[in-house]
Amino acid sequence: VSVEQVLIERSGSSCELCASKDDLAVYGVGPDSDGTGEQSVFLCPVCRGQIDDAGTTDENHWRCLNDSMWSQIPAVQVLAWRMLTRLAAKGWPQDLLDMLYLEDDVLAWAKAGVEETGGDLVIHRDSNGTELGAGDSVTLIKDLNVKGGGFTAKRGTLVRSISLVADNAEHIEGKVSGQQIVILTKYVKKSS
Ligand SMILES: [Zn+2]
Repeated sequence: VSVEQVLIERSGSSCELCASKDDLAVYGVGPDSDGTGEQSVFLCPVCRGQIDDAGTTDENHWRCLNDSMWSQIPAVQVLAWRMLTRLAAKGWPQDLLDMLYLEDDVLAWAKAGVEETGGDLVIHRDSNGTELGAGDSVTLIKDLNVKGGGFTAKRGTLVRSISLVADNAEHIEGKVSGQQIVILTKYVKKSS
């Protein structure tokens, strides 16, 4: 039985990410796909093209991940995670990412291929190296002089519902004393 046949049966002849029925083909999920069904996904040309060329990424196409990220197939989960990570700055993909639980080995696979798919993997970490996500709460670990704000954000201040600055892993934003300010990640600690 060919890999294609395996994937046709697994997918019901539809794109495993967006459910399109057109021009489906086997797509090896890198970085080192062994070409087996477990490390391949059946995809339409739109999904294949945008995965391979970040410059053509159409955010709205990937709303399909709302459904397909719940697939039980690791290779599909990996691609869903990578695309949501690439688009995380748009907001809604980050919300989906927050809900997407991957087994450790699947997550490692997903991260290993990020460069290959052309995504910029910007991971925000607090002063302890703990990963931060949009909506997390953090505590300031030192007094911060807020330039232009005319006040000092005191050490120990809890900042709720932070947002991540998409293209800078060292910057987050949050509200302190009613003002939205940029905070350096090295001065915060994630609050549980
Ligand atoms: Zn597709």
